[in-house]
Amino acid sequence: MNYDVIIVGAGPGGIFSAYELVKEAPHLKVAVFEAGHALEKRRCPIDGDKVKSCISCKTCSIMSGFGGAGAFSDGKYNITNDFGGTLYEYIGKQKTMELLHYVDDINMEYGGEGTKLYTTKGSKFKKECIRHDLHLLDASVRHLGTDINYIVLGNLYNHLKDKVEFFFDTPVKTVAIIDGGYEVQCSDANYTCKQCIISVGRVGSKWMENVCKELEIPTKSNRVDIGVRVELPADVFSHLTDELYESKIVYRTSKYGDKVRTFCMNPKGAVVNENTNGIITANGHSYEDPALQTENTNFALLVSKKFSEPFKDSNGYGESIARLSNMLGGGVIVQRFGDLIRGQRSTEKRMEEAFITPTLQATPGDLSLVLPKRILDGIVEMIYALDKIAPGTANDDTLLYGVEVKFYNMEVEVDDKLESLHKGLYIIGDGSGITHSLSHASASGVYVARSISKML
Ligand SMILES: Cc1cc2nc3c(=O)[nH]c(=O)nc-3n(C[C@H](O)[C@H](O)[C@H](O)COP(=O)(O)OP(=O)(O)OC[C@H]3O[C@@H](n4cnc5c(N)ncnc54)[C@H](O)[C@@H]3O)c2cc1C
Repeated sequence: MNYDVIIVGAGPGGIFSAYELVKEAPHLKVAVFEAGHALEKRRCPIDGDKVKSCISCKTCSIMSGFGGAGAFSDGKYNITNDFGGTLYEYIGKQKTMELLHYVDDINMEYGGEGTKLYTTKGSKFKKECIRHDLHLLDASVRHLGTDINYIVLGNLYNHLKDKVEFFFDTPVKTVAIIDGGYEVQCSDANYTCKQCIISVGRVGSKWMENVCKELEIPTKSNRVDIGVRVELPADVFSHLTDELYESKIVYRTSKYGDKVRTFCMNPKGAVVNENTNGIITANGHSYEDPALQTENTNFALLVSKKFSEPFKDSNGYGESIARLSNMLGGGVIVQRFGDLIRGQRSTEKRMEEAFITPTLQATPGDLSLVLPKRILDGIVEMIYALDKIAPGTANDDTLLYGVEVKFYNMEVEVDDKLESLHKGLYIIGDGSGITHSLSHASASGVYVARSISKML
């Protein structure tokens, strides 16, 4: 065997697997294969000047490379079982919380020290929310910020680079079962190992699907979350974001009984494009450094869609809606809330008249031509509900970027060790469909590394 352990994917799941293997079993020979670039080479070509929108690079530097989809993220590490994944269903709530705290400790040791840990514990906003039928979920959230998150990743890489073999710009084509282990097949060469950890994230969802088909690993289709990214003056939400940073608020619509929730709140942040398999959707992030902050706050409003038999392709449904916005807008569409309510599209002129400066250059348009009525109605209803706890949310100039889609990987069948039916083949992080966040993906990496080091 070339290696004791091969890790596919250098996102948080892969990095924390490598970290824990090095710590717990330094004698093991470990390699990490990553489709994207090394951290310092990751650069999105959009500069707002020469390159204004996504040019669909061969590997997207926002989604791929050392640090995975998390590298330029806001670096919000949520410490909770209430959202971010269902790891607790496999390993228990207490173990999950213990691992989430452990990941936080490592982030602090590698450059995150001094960053703020926010918590909803004892917050007056819980009561305020419930008065308006809004439900604030419990969590602690460590906000590293895009800048500190990058420093932590750099420090982790420096710690690992001489102890683990990294192969960047090396997408793994397939994983094959061989006698006593696995063969990881790349375009130039094949590499063998005793144990294999797959942590390919959302960007690797199609690849993961193929591997599961080839290795006959059962999967089940998952949900898709569809909605918009809201951007408004930071002052509108500052009373909430100053105390909680991120507030996860859930609302049940009176019209359809659907749940709409806030997601990924970025105080004084920026809205960005996200490219998943060539489909451009909206996302957001913010910096810890005040010099890099903006005057706006952004967050997503998402409606979860789960389909029953015979329809299985929930991601395909989300993709089709995102493609529609890409078809009409050439990428992400932006619309003022007032224009949406009056049933008119936003135009360049109307955008110029707005009192808010958008942080993402998107095409002014009409989201009602893109989003299904039921989803759009839910979003509008929630905006009016949020206006009661954060007056100004339902202002004419509140910007809605569409669409934002959270694609969930299909859930891969694994046991309580996160091991597939093939012994020694572990599937973790967002690629497994079990986690949907930095903290939970990282925790799943620590978890499998510990059981592998005990075994080898
Ligand atoms: C803009 C943005 C902001 C975000 N902000 C937050 C946030 O603040 N908080 C939060 O909790 N979450 C956030 N997220 C989500 C978070 O980044 C993910 O949940 C997390 O990165 C998942 O980690 P992972 O290791 O499972 O997968 P990923 O981070 O997606 O990493 C997977 C890696 O595997 C590689 N790969 C895929 N296929 C192959 C292959 N065949 N061969 C080799 N390598 C392969 C990919 O290139 C990628 O680098 C954000 C995401 C984005 C895009």
